[in-house]
Amino acid sequence: MDGTAVMEEVSLTLVEHTDTETEALRTLTRAFGYDTFRGDQEAAIEHVAAGGDAVVLMPTGAGKSLCYQIPSLVRPGTGVVISPLIALMQDQVDALRALGVRAGFINSTQDYDEQRLVEAEFVSGELDLLYLAPERLRLESTLDLLSRGKISVFAIDEAHCVAQWGHDFRPDYLALSLLGERWPDVPRIALTATATRATHQEITKNLGMDGARHFEASFDRPNIQYRIVSKDDPKKQLLRFLKEEHAGDAGIVYCLSRNSVEKTAEFLCRNDIPAVPYHAGLDARTRALHQSRFLREEGLTVVATIAFGMGIDKPDVRFVAHLDLPKSVEGYYQETGRAGRDGLPSTAWMAYGLQDVVQQRKLIQSGEGDLAFQRRAASHLDAMLALCETVQCRRAQLLAYFGQQQESPACGNCDSCLTPPETWDGTVAAQKVLSAVVRLQRERGQKFGTGQIVDILLGRKTAKVIQFDHDQLSVFGIGQELSEAEWRGVVRQLLAQRLLAVEGEYGTLVLTEDSGAVLARQREVPLRKEPKKAPSAKGSSKGERKSKAVVDLPEELLPLFETLRTWRATQAREQGVPAYVVFPDATLKEITLTAPSTIDELGGISGVGEKKLATYGEAVLGVLAEWSAVAGARPAEEDEPPADE
Ligand code: ADP
Ligand code: ZN
Repeated sequence: MDGTAVMEEVSLTLVEHTDTETEALRTLTRAFGYDTFRGDQEAAIEHVAAGGDAVVLMPTGAGKSLCYQIPSLVRPGTGVVISPLIALMQDQVDALRALGVRAGFINSTQDYDEQRLVEAEFVSGELDLLYLAPERLRLESTLDLLSRGKISVFAIDEAHCVAQWGHDFRPDYLALSLLGERWPDVPRIALTATATRATHQEITKNLGMDGARHFEASFDRPNIQYRIVSKDDPKKQLLRFLKEEHAGDAGIVYCLSRNSVEKTAEFLCRNDIPAVPYHAGLDARTRALHQSRFLREEGLTVVATIAFGMGIDKPDVRFVAHLDLPKSVEGYYQETGRAGRDGLPSTAWMAYGLQDVVQQRKLIQSGEGDLAFQRRAASHLDAMLALCETVQCRRAQLLAYFGQQQESPACGNCDSCLTPPETWDGTVAAQKVLSAVVRLQRERGQKFGTGQIVDILLGRKTAKVIQFDHDQLSVFGIGQELSEAEWRGVVRQLLAQRLLAVEGEYGTLVLTEDSGAVLARQREVPLRKEPKKAPSAKGSSKGERKSKAVVDLPEELLPLFETLRTWRATQAREQGVPAYVVFPDATLKEITLTAPSTIDELGGISGVGEKKLATYGEAVLGVLAEWSAVAGARPAEEDEPPADE
């Protein structure tokens, strides 16, 4: 009975909104080849299509693009999309054209004639979508151009740029508030994948979008497995992770410095993992080339500083690895969010160790910026460290950071859930470290870094210990019960918990306000146990694993999937577009699983819209027919009966 009541309510809503809904839904099916909207997409699209302003917060891969693309198609005029990365506009536009959408862009990569052509198309109403970089809108000539055409929607992509302190694009984004003043009747939609409550409010305020409706999706990315391992030999750990779990996959490796980017990329190449570097020190041509190779080739790894990745909408990035600690949870979430936009299993992997904490704390202290800036940076770092050191579900903690709650306390797809870490009472160990620091300072007036403290605790008579007579200290050799790695783990966790601090150029250890309570036995210090040898989350495994994208296809269908991928690669090369512009992996997978034999059946597959069906339909059916002919002609292998299904 309840069920009927609910059904009635649903159908009433359907009737009420039937006009825009059918139009939006029809566009979704016809142009994009999808049957249903996801999550908040429909509500946001309806709202904007009806002329309302919207602020949309959705995690990467949730489908933000459709939220402005469909209103642009449904409303009369051209949708103007403000997006900061001009290097990606060509690909975005190519992808839309492959769907039959009339899209164009204007940016500095074009010559005068090309720009004039797009401008003319815009003015005469021949464009559904026009992409522009934010700095263009500070030019009077651009505003003039825009006033000569009809605009359906303004979409402001990567809207967190308006809020993020110190961000490159910030002044350009701040200037975007003029859009609402100059075109009060054109709806605006601001989109971002990363925002805490505070950032969310800043976006709304700075863009002058107080009247906007807010759509906030769950930030969860269930297909991403989060793992943070203890760093000992990061390059080797990375290599093992890639070989065991992501052979042949595309992914991104983030490093802090340009130098380590270069070295890591070389190291991977030497070990048969195709990799290219990307950082701001490379010239523009090399950067563009490496980015374009990443988008177009399959299975390439980009080793990069955080300069890489914003706006990269390659759907089949299978892993994001961090060799250094990101500066904030926002940064970490944004970077890891570039994995698995297609919804297939992906990994966010990070190696994290003592040096990261020391280095980041030092950077903050020695960096520019006033006290308020430093305090903010320090609290960002604290949140990041708490995530690294937690013994609880990583996902639960990430979501909590963004003000959201997970239904159950354990997600089952992070390292904490897969191999729950052990904790131990580290109070005595903490006291030993703190005592060593205190003795050095009180008795000798000296400050030293972690290495010397650990040597003292372990009772090692190194040259430096002898030189400073540290073997005469009462704390010398009182810590033989733990290994060096374990002591470093204790120091790291004390730093993370602010029970210890680093100081000066050499990162010497000093006490904090809270250290006293530990020394006075007024406070316990629970610690996370250091793993003996960082295991991979799924236990040790011999030999190379298959790429994550194909693991859940039945073994016997893998050759067909590979055949379709090869066909796709040829198409992509001929047209000079990335493979996913032809069809994404998820669509190829569904084709493999359902083996359609007619154009109609193929058209029913998610991701196959009208234009793609017309362009590739016959060819795909051809590939399938050929494959089943060959497979059928093959003598039955092993002792299996000639299986029908
Ligand atoms: P975002 O910009 O939020 O990161 P995208 O707009 O790039 O996400 O979409 C991610 C992927 O999901 C794309 O491949 C897109 O085509 C696909 N997608 C979006 N909406 C739908 C839908 N309603 N049904 C099926 N696939 C969708
Ligand atoms: Zn979990």
